[in-house]
Amino acid sequence: MNQAMSSLLGFAPEKIAKKLSIINFFVDATEWQNILDFLKKNTSITEYDFWLGKKGGTRFIASFSLNARKRKSGEILYIDGVIQDITDKRQAEAKLQETNHRLEILSTTDGLTGLANRRFFDESLLKEYSRHSRSGKNLALILLDIDCFKAYNDSYGHIAGDKCLQKISKILADFTHRPSDLAARYGGEEFVCILPETDLDGAIAVAEKIRCGIMDLTIPHKSSRVEDLVTASLGVVSVRCSNDGSPQDIIEQADALLYQAKESGRNRVEVAL
Ligand code: GH3
Ligand code: MG
Ligand code: MG
Repeated sequence: MNQAMSSLLGFAPEKIAKKLSIINFFVDATEWQNILDFLKKNTSITEYDFWLGKKGGTRFIASFSLNARKRKSGEILYIDGVIQDITDKRQAEAKLQETNHRLEILSTTDGLTGLANRRFFDESLLKEYSRHSRSGKNLALILLDIDCFKAYNDSYGHIAGDKCLQKISKILADFTHRPSDLAARYGGEEFVCILPETDLDGAIAVAEKIRCGIMDLTIPHKSSRVEDLVTASLGVVSVRCSNDGSPQDIIEQADALLYQAKESGRNRVEVAL
């Protein structure tokens, strides 16, 4: 054991006995036995990571590379090798992992509302569609568009418009509470909810809760053609998925119903009967 090793473990070189048993002081006995067993069958072990104790009882993560020198009989004569403190490396790896995780979240989240973004929605719908094709269960979709939102921006300004989008997002998130439900920003002032394994009645119930929840926010909208507060129109579908169909079909159906809701006066939920 050299000077570097002695400072790593916190003992003066002369205090570190040059015999194998000293290792028991630093390394967990079972772990060390595993290493010995391995070296009996093989001759070397590289970059084997485990925790090492140092003087004072603190532990650090170390990487071992060991070579067993053996007699012809196979008996281990001695072991030499290198021990490296990889605390910094591990910390850097953990930081990188955390950064990657944060990037992953950022790339799937809408910056303004915190809901899932369009990309994540597209991917989720595709996955849910094929899952439902296999299970034969109903997949429901709600498409929502805020009423007279251009006029809202014109009356109250774009910043107030953004705040309104944030409040409405919260309503969508609140009423899609099953773990597999997904509320996403579809684009601009349009939102979408995926409700897996949900029949039409269930989906209508959720859509109505969202519509009423938005009215209950009582966000004043003096230039709306519908009410004197912010409202939304919704198209709702619940379909059996099949290999012949595609996720695009569901969106198109919901979009047609949304258009119908707008045409027939807005602030309503429209469904295909
Ligand atoms: P309708 O009832 O028919 O849906 O009318 P509308 O005015 O809501 O529809 P239109 O498509 O004409 O206008 C949508 C408006 O939404 C236009 C745009 O200024 C506004 N908008 C889209 N994205 C954002 C956003 O991120 N922030 C804000 N403040 N406004 C947005
Ligand atoms: Mg729109
Ligand atoms: Mg609109």
